[in-house]
Amino acid sequence: MIELTREELKRHLGAPIFGQVGDTADELGLECYVVGGYVRDLFLQRPSQDIDIVVVGSGIAMAEALGRRLGHGAKVAVFKNFGTAQVKYRDMEVEFVGARKESYSRDSRKPIVEDGTLEDDQNRRDFTINALAICLNRTRFGELVDPFGGVDDLRERVVRTPLDPDITFSDDPLRMMRCIRFATQLNFHIDDETFESLCRNRERIGIISRERVADELNKIILAPTPSKGFIDLDRCGLLSLIFPELVALQGVEARNGRKHKDNFYHTLEVLDNISQRTDNLWLRWAALLHDIAKPTTKRWEPKAGWTFHNHNFIGEKMVPVLFKRMKLPMNEKMKYVQKLVGLHMRPIAIADDEVTDSAVRRLLFEAGDDIDDLMTLCEADITSKNSERKQRFLNNFKLVRRKLKDLEEKDRIRNFQPPVSGEEIMEIFGLPPSREVGALKSAIKDAILDGVIPNEHDPARAYLLERAKKMGLEPRHG
Ligand code: ATP
Repeated sequence: MIELTREELKRHLGAPIFGQVGDTADELGLECYVVGGYVRDLFLQRPSQDIDIVVVGSGIAMAEALGRRLGHGAKVAVFKNFGTAQVKYRDMEVEFVGARKESYSRDSRKPIVEDGTLEDDQNRRDFTINALAICLNRTRFGELVDPFGGVDDLRERVVRTPLDPDITFSDDPLRMMRCIRFATQLNFHIDDETFESLCRNRERIGIISRERVADELNKIILAPTPSKGFIDLDRCGLLSLIFPELVALQGVEARNGRKHKDNFYHTLEVLDNISQRTDNLWLRWAALLHDIAKPTTKRWEPKAGWTFHNHNFIGEKMVPVLFKRMKLPMNEKMKYVQKLVGLHMRPIAIADDEVTDSAVRRLLFEAGDDIDDLMTLCEADITSKNSERKQRFLNNFKLVRRKLKDLEEKDRIRNFQPPVSGEEIMEIFGLPPSREVGALKSAIKDAILDGVIPNEHDPARAYLLERAKKMGLEPRHG
């Protein structure tokens, strides 16, 4: 965070649009302020796209007057139902809203809204750091209005509600998710009183739509160190309400002195690891869910100790169920996460053993274009504290990656197309579509993946004739 005097704030608001907004407001005789995230991010030196303007009066009238002042290049969109308007000008997007006062009923996060003062408007904001306003009127241009010590909280790196947190959170429980989201994105601490209120009000999350909760969860997952958010969600008891399957990963059990690892903390470590390598939300989701079926598959086997057989396959089956409940997209993103969860053990199994061509070819065949993401997931999954063991796995992964590259160049397995098609097989032997055709096709595929024949038409055809002969099939034309 940087300290900014009024003169410096003026300079930061040097883009002509701010002056034009201020002049328009002066003309209409209205007070107007830039507020919220934009101001917070000025102090934090974070890039900010949205400019939110509060007008003490009609936001819509203000946007329309600004549109007239800017002329042709400006596009004004009015949202009458919300009492807001947006002005697009060059590469800027500015949102206008009239200052408002809000009051809430117990069973809805939709408030009753009345016109209000700037103070009313700042009172309805979620956190002190989001309640900062800077005046844009000519005579007060650059004047900061900070009634709740928001700048002090930015300096101390604290998320705190402006009013009694029990009221702020109970009025609109989505703010509980936003609280943890901002703390995670900004790497801030949640003020103690605010945190205790999260614990007390957690059940109120029930009135929030699952889509909204998922939006916030996605923002937490996309933060630089997402584990921080999940630990806060867990500590205040929200996690068990919105994502009980993750909580079920917690705990260590010991038998005969043998312990398994705590899969919750392991999962969070994998998520943090992968977040250093990728901003792909769905790859991060795959990291979060890779071991999700461990609790249901956990067994004690006297010889082997703790086992989690098939947790990858069961996890793959859980992905659509979870996505549906959490209102995440049920499309190719979900299928991608499913595939990675299902395959996440494969590179480890290969790297643990001798790295054979045929195992690598099969992996490449099944992962297709997602092979690089799968390898990234598996590397993130190595959280062993034994540095020798860790190094051995990482070295073997390097070998797997090298082999993947070699074989890919040689065999083009990634987007495998059988060199002899089903139609050709039917034509050669005069067969209708049948199980035999399928069996011959997969025999060719296996021979290529095992390196018995190259991925080329003629050798595949010769191999086909040989295999068919053993099944008692002869080609139609000799
Ligand atoms: P980001 O764009 O990174 O999400 P932001 O602070 O701009 O951050 P928005 O959701 O765009 O977040 O909200 C803009 C401003 O509106 C916030 O800074 C805050 O002052 C206010 N706000 C948004 N949602 C709420 C809410 N649920 N309760 C109270 N105030 C809110």
